[in-house]
Amino acid sequence: MSKIPLPPVVKRPLVTAWNEAHRVGWLLRDHADAILHGRVEPCSVCGRRCRMLYRRRVIPPRLVELWGLTERQAEALARKESNDCAGCGAKLRARRMAEVLLDLFPVAGTRLADLRTWAGSHEAGELRIAEINRIDGIHEVLSNLARFHSSEYVPNVRPGAYVSGIRNESLMGLTYENARFDLVLTSETLEHVPELNRALAEIRRVLVPGGLHVFTVPVSPNEAKTFPRARLRHDGSFEGLTQEIRHPGGDVGYPVFTELGLDFPEILKRAGFETEVRFGPVSDDDLAQVYVCRKPTA
Ligand SMILES: [Zn+2]
Repeated sequence: MSKIPLPPVVKRPLVTAWNEAHRVGWLLRDHADAILHGRVEPCSVCGRRCRMLYRRRVIPPRLVELWGLTERQAEALARKESNDCAGCGAKLRARRMAEVLLDLFPVAGTRLADLRTWAGSHEAGELRIAEINRIDGIHEVLSNLARFHSSEYVPNVRPGAYVSGIRNESLMGLTYENARFDLVLTSETLEHVPELNRALAEIRRVLVPGGLHVFTVPVSPNEAKTFPRARLRHDGSFEGLTQEIRHPGGDVGYPVFTELGLDFPEILKRAGFETEVRFGPVSDDDLAQVYVCRKPTA
């Protein structure tokens, strides 16, 4: 039996309705799953008691294959990249960054419970903060702070220039002056910078002595040593050195220049930071570590 093609005027709303039903179906399942597994807790970003929505599907099979993850490791990665707060949308890695910030920056000697309340404090307003690439969940809460400087990387745009109101910055060469910030925030960014050590040196340069870089990165639980996957040639063109991996799709997304292995904390120390791994170490069941790097005072 041959299919009768539907005219676009009929087909389009049908496809939209089908997709919407599918989306709502997933959402209902995610909420039910959160209740069933007791993932209802206070959110360290928005402060509300919310369901945390685990979505295994955020990690595509192709990335699992290329990265050589076991199903157990893939689930740990899916927790890091989801467990979204149903109230504010902050995923686990953002909520853990918030927890670390609350630990590091108490208000009048007290550790506050959520970043939203913290952002309303005098202490938070005094901090000079650079967010290098938007961190969903954290960005919305901090963006009204007087000394909060957010930037994104846009290829082929002059660093320091603004595109649609957003400052363009590259970790290959920040345009901020030395010792400009008390705190630098990045999340899942360092692996995409063509030269990791240059990025770390740039972050160190713009921090005041005693300043902190708080961040997340994907560290492979199956690689003992960090290695380059790609590099930029002198003419700026891309050169793959081994199997190419892109985030988030595996084959699609931003190319990974550095595959970070279990020796990553050593690299941070060699780059001149006092380093602490929160929620560590990396394990098959937990890939959502938060790194705290302090620029020494002397
Ligand atoms: Zn929340």
